[in-house]
Amino acid sequence: MIIDVHSHAFPDSLAARAIAHLEEGNAKAFSDGTVAGLLRSMDSAGVDRSVICSIATKPEQFDPIMKWSLAIRNDRLIPLASIHPSDPLAVRRVGEVMAAGLKGIKIHPYYQGFDLADHTFDSFYAAVESSGLVLVSHTGFDMAFPRDRRADASRSLDLVTRFPKLKFMATHFGAWNDWDDVEAKLIGKPVNLEISLTLEFVPPEQARRMILAHPEDRLFFGSDSPWGNPVETLRLLRELDLPAPLLQKILSENATALFR
Ligand SMILES: [Zn+2]
Repeated sequence: MIIDVHSHAFPDSLAARAIAHLEEGNAKAFSDGTVAGLLRSMDSAGVDRSVICSIATKPEQFDPIMKWSLAIRNDRLIPLASIHPSDPLAVRRVGEVMAAGLKGIKIHPYYQGFDLADHTFDSFYAAVESSGLVLVSHTGFDMAFPRDRRADASRSLDLVTRFPKLKFMATHFGAWNDWDDVEAKLIGKPVNLEISLTLEFVPPEQARRMILAHPEDRLFFGSDSPWGNPVETLRLLRELDLPAPLLQKILSENATALFR
């Protein structure tokens, strides 16, 4: 069983435009951005289930993302809602997500224009913490934006220290393209980390060392499909030659427990 905790797809009517637009700032996409394209990519990589991380770049995108997420969810697809932290209705929306039965919420400090450690949003974080929903945040730098610090290791650590029961997940192994800082500050701490778009950049010795030094229940396989290729991420992960029980936790057991 393999669960990919970080993937993207778009409604069929928007996919071509969304992918073309996002390719301007990102790498070339590995799928056409549709749900069918994601399922094909999952099949070719042997991925059983994928968590879909939509991003509300404006507060009013909450509703259409919810509606689409509820329409596409099934045994293989676990779509997350997205709430804009600056949305005046953010706290109420957390309750709506819970009532609808989605498993979590995706936030993105660059696309949503906020700082992960901005205490202005504490009521939102507190609501997510008490809801039991998973909060997945983009962390680290983002290819498509200037290198301002908005979601680095210190900020994730500040958040989980202030909200210890929050089911927070940092993407890209704690902070994209800032992995020495992650190794110094976040590894070994109680933070859930998924490994998308990391093994392609970090030397295998360092990746292995960091994985082995982190709590074994807090590591997750993610591909960031279509921006990352799940076939390649799985190959690089397996090449690290991790103990088999740990690999099984990373590939599915930890995700099964967290998104239960
Ligand atoms: Zn992503």
